[in-house]
Amino acid sequence: MSGQHVVVIGAGIVGAVTALEALSAGYRVTILEPGEPGGEQAASYGNGCWLSPMSVIPPSVPGLWKKVPKFLMDPLGPLAIRWSYLPRVAPWLVRYLLAGWTEAKVEATARAIRPLLEDSPALHRDLARRAGVERLIERRGLMYIYENRAQFESEAMAWRVRRKVGIEWLELDADEMRQREPELDRRYRFGVLVEEGGHCRDPGAYVAALVEQAQAEGAELRRVRATGFRIEGGRLKAVLTEAGEVPADKAVISAGAYSRKLAAAAGSDVPLETERGYHAMLPDAQVGPRTPLMPFDGKMSVTWTDRGLRCAGQVEIAGLDAAPNWKRAEILRDHLLRSFPGLPRDLPPDRVKVWMGHRPSMPDGLPCIGPAAASPDVLLAFGHGHVGLVAAPRTGRAVAAMLERRAPEIPVEPFRPSRFA
Ligand SMILES: Cc1cc2nc3c(=O)[nH]c(=O)nc-3n(C[C@H](O)[C@H](O)[C@H](O)COP(=O)(O)OP(=O)(O)OC[C@H]3O[C@@H](n4cnc5c(N)ncnc54)[C@H](O)[C@@H]3O)c2cc1C
Repeated sequence: MSGQHVVVIGAGIVGAVTALEALSAGYRVTILEPGEPGGEQAASYGNGCWLSPMSVIPPSVPGLWKKVPKFLMDPLGPLAIRWSYLPRVAPWLVRYLLAGWTEAKVEATARAIRPLLEDSPALHRDLARRAGVERLIERRGLMYIYENRAQFESEAMAWRVRRKVGIEWLELDADEMRQREPELDRRYRFGVLVEEGGHCRDPGAYVAALVEQAQAEGAELRRVRATGFRIEGGRLKAVLTEAGEVPADKAVISAGAYSRKLAAAAGSDVPLETERGYHAMLPDAQVGPRTPLMPFDGKMSVTWTDRGLRCAGQVEIAGLDAAPNWKRAEILRDHLLRSFPGLPRDLPPDRVKVWMGHRPSMPDGLPCIGPAAASPDVLLAFGHGHVGLVAAPRTGRAVAAMLERRAPEIPVEPFRPSRFA
């Protein structure tokens, strides 16, 4: 493929991995990114750090529709929809609810996405080693924690589906929990440890290192925003940017939640929305979990990072432009303090770092990976919602295979962008 030029649009985790895989396949690569690679504008910067191959359950599950009034009435609930955004998001929301209407649908989604997530910690470790930052990827498992077994059993459907797609776990009683997590609040008396899970110690720094590695291997990074494509006779001629045209043989749209207009410019009208999320981080924390945790009552991840103890979560459907509601980050902070009584109380605001980011979310919980309608030379690679970090290695490999018109190593049919046509 030497000589062929691929333009990768967006340097979040998906674009960064795709650029490296395209280089491995022998392409000349240019990355377009107006911000810092892996910078705060990217969802890849502030996420929960989980490399969770068991995250196969889509956000929409049976019976979720009954909670929609609550989502609208409670702006601080774990899932909230802004009233002002409802008219615009209603068609997406209907699709979202229908996608998780029955357990059979949830299982079909889980079966489709599992191959995209499997082995993710090992694949990330390989990428990190290539970029000289192997220490950023750890594999100590991931743990879900509950006050009692009844709470775990209230999620029986999700665990049943996980079991069916081959996910295994260890169940921990109160004593085992205490031994493993001595600083955790005693109200948590039941845990589920998924040993195949891992985490990244600093996703922003990791993405930056992958992009630097791509540059070291010959990729060019251009700090410009892509705006569209020049396609003639079904073949890509150039990617359009705010600073003029970049001639290209192939292009990959990996601009996360900002990909919808670019996909439309390549003929694919896909229902991409954003589920906004938040983190709160304590840079000076001295106590916390041994293993990354997800408390049932908080619906957030709690993970040590190189920048501090981070808790990340919340889903807010309010679009790309609305201002953040920092009360949501305060809810995460307060829950973290309740989960670890040894953390200092009354923290001054400058000792808590907060962040809001945009998950790129398709209504059916599956990403778009595949050719654009207007040209097979333009590939879509976005819409990973809650699992973009864990799914990035296999996405990058699938995209590289598609660039070369090879069969990807995993089934990608469920991710075809034309499924919404
Ligand atoms: C609170 C929270 C917690 C999360 N926790 C996890 C987790 O634990 N594990 C997990 O796997 N996933 C998690 N996610 C999801 C994950 O972060 C995302 O799915 C993933 O980061 C998406 O990566 P991306 O590369 O597609 O997009 P992004 O990281 O958003 O990157 C897109 C890039 O494209 C650039 N861009 C935008 N427009 C243009 C343009 N026109 N031209 C050029 N460049 C452009 C942007 O500047 C940005 O840098 C979480 C998300 C949030 C918000």
